[in-house]
Amino acid sequence: DSEHGNRLSEGLDPEQREAVHAPRGPVCVLAGAGTGKTRTITRRIAHLVNNGHVAAGQVLAVTFTARAAGEMRTRLRALGVQGAQARTFHAAALRQLRYFWPRVVGDAPWELLDGKLRLVGQAAQRAGAPTDRESLRDFASEIEWAKASLITPDDYGTATAKIGREIPGPAEQVSAVYSGYEALKTRARSMDFDDLLLHTAAVLEEHHDVAGEFRERYRCFVVDEYQDVTPLQQRVLDAWLGNRDDLTVVGDANQTIYSFAGASPRPLLDFSKRFPEAVVVRLERDYRSTPQVVALANKVIGAARGRPAGSRLQLIGQRPDGPQPHFAEFDDENAEARAVVRRIRKLLDAGVSASEVAVLYRVNAQSEVYEQALTEAEIPYQVRGGERFFHRPEVRQAMHVLRSNGELEIGANTLPDVVRKLLSTIGLTDEPPTGGAMREKWESLLALVELAEEFAAAVEDADLPRFVGELVLRAEAQHPPTVEGVTLASLHAAKGLEWDAVFLVGLTEGTLPIQHVLSDASGGSEGIEEERRLFYVGVTRAREHLWLSWALTRSAGGGGRPRRRSRFLYGLVPDDHPAALPAKGTVAGASSLRRDAAKPECRTCAGPLIGSVAVKLGRCASCPSDVDEQLLGRLKTWRADRAKQLKVPAYVVFT
Ligand code: ATP
Ligand code: MG
Repeated sequence: DSEHGNRLSEGLDPEQREAVHAPRGPVCVLAGAGTGKTRTITRRIAHLVNNGHVAAGQVLAVTFTARAAGEMRTRLRALGVQGAQARTFHAAALRQLRYFWPRVVGDAPWELLDGKLRLVGQAAQRAGAPTDRESLRDFASEIEWAKASLITPDDYGTATAKIGREIPGPAEQVSAVYSGYEALKTRARSMDFDDLLLHTAAVLEEHHDVAGEFRERYRCFVVDEYQDVTPLQQRVLDAWLGNRDDLTVVGDANQTIYSFAGASPRPLLDFSKRFPEAVVVRLERDYRSTPQVVALANKVIGAARGRPAGSRLQLIGQRPDGPQPHFAEFDDENAEARAVVRRIRKLLDAGVSASEVAVLYRVNAQSEVYEQALTEAEIPYQVRGGERFFHRPEVRQAMHVLRSNGELEIGANTLPDVVRKLLSTIGLTDEPPTGGAMREKWESLLALVELAEEFAAAVEDADLPRFVGELVLRAEAQHPPTVEGVTLASLHAAKGLEWDAVFLVGLTEGTLPIQHVLSDASGGSEGIEEERRLFYVGVTRAREHLWLSWALTRSAGGGGRPRRRSRFLYGLVPDDHPAALPAKGTVAGASSLRRDAAKPECRTCAGPLIGSVAVKLGRCASCPSDVDEQLLGRLKTWRADRAKQLKVPAYVVFT
């Protein structure tokens, strides 16, 4: 090995090193959160490139978020690798289409679709389907799911019936909206995000000369977070590969959090079936989190049901001890947010940097109360997630201006200059306005100029249309410009990332797990299990400080329905904690009945209990918890003695 080679082996354990040093060909790293999967693949790329096994330009690494791709580029540069591509699937496809489209179609590539809901709305109207906003959103995400699952409008009815999928209307109607939308989009000569992938795959599958040229150019493929690959992305990957096998994948089936959108861990788990000669490596040492956080993570994922073989890994913490995870219950959300912010203030005072703190929640709407509390405390923050930036009216206006000037020649004026000039027509003055909404608008516009600077520095032929394409991608990937501050992010957006201190907030039934999986008519536990994995993703983002909190009502003054803590907390809160529930394996009487005791629930997972009627005890319908014979005997006696007196349903705490 060269000197570089030696340096590249530093900070790798033997299993990581095996994956890094494996010869070119299929490699699969199956491992839990924080075990160094991302580190391993960047090192592998650097190893292959720096030792002359492959040219940097022949490497294509794909990930699922723009931020992850950016981080991989940064890490590769730090390892001395120049020119290897690290992109999201969409960005890689967009780039390839730009290159191949003129040859194949004889035209400039179609525009990326702006205003998807509008087209869905037109299609819904023509199909006689409901056109309210919620229905349109449901149709739009159903169409995305179908496209990601490679299901055409014609096949839609049969395919969804076969898997018993709950769909947002009669199948013929959804299918009509879907095909109507596709037709309108084609007529407008535009592509949505799924089309980027569909067209890319189709071009490579149908045009052998193009595929040949592409495969000459790219020879070594790497996929991070492979557990979340959709059939459509897999098809693109297969089109890239052809009959070759130089593919490295890494993933954690326990972190599959996009199956609602068609993703599946199957390709990850079946990798060695497809490539029997693959080098398969399992990592167990967790380098990210303290043993305290790791123990909690193991408990969370240990409670998961129906885990496929190959995904049952125990993480072994490697770091020095840290504080125990902290649990806290509040009366309302504002109290929770204020307490979280007080705690953040303490951490900052103790020297933790604001950019090393994250507040993670299930749905973006939860950010608002934290934005408010952080603002009041004058703590800088950034919201990772589209709402705050790309959805702002001024940003949409700016995008419109940039887009409608797409023909403008830059002339070596730099891209940032041109962007600044165009945005000056809608309020980007040289000096910032003093305050209020004008100032906010100004900040957003300036942020766009900064993005243009970033883009021009990273891309050689940066012009206005390419920049607009980049912005659309970013908007979709929900990545606002980076500011130093506390991160507010949804659990989905936090995947792959890490912070010293993580606050998992709003841990209530109906939020995590989210309401729609609780009311899922199909009654399946798959939705719940995906929510549990999301919780696991959240827990495993913390290096050191982990705070888990929930509030029993939404607002002060008791407005809104009372909430219950998330079922995922059962078994996690220590017994001596004020928020702890009665110890496991004991019978709870009237004094510890919960508010909704009329509907008794399993204390392990909060699933409904099925069994004996009088005291409503028996087996849990959602998790494997059961009453053992001995306990059942005791309960029978207990029932006879106590239940009649209490005249209330009681429930059991299962072990
Ligand atoms: P996730 O599943 O969350 O994406 P991951 O498996 O990709 O996690 P990484 O992000 O690569 O994990 O690594 C987690 C942390 O551990 C990083 O801070 C990384 O630098 C560090 N790390 C990884 N491997 C080692 C090692 N061998 N020695 C020391 N630190 C390591
Ligand atoms: Mg990773």
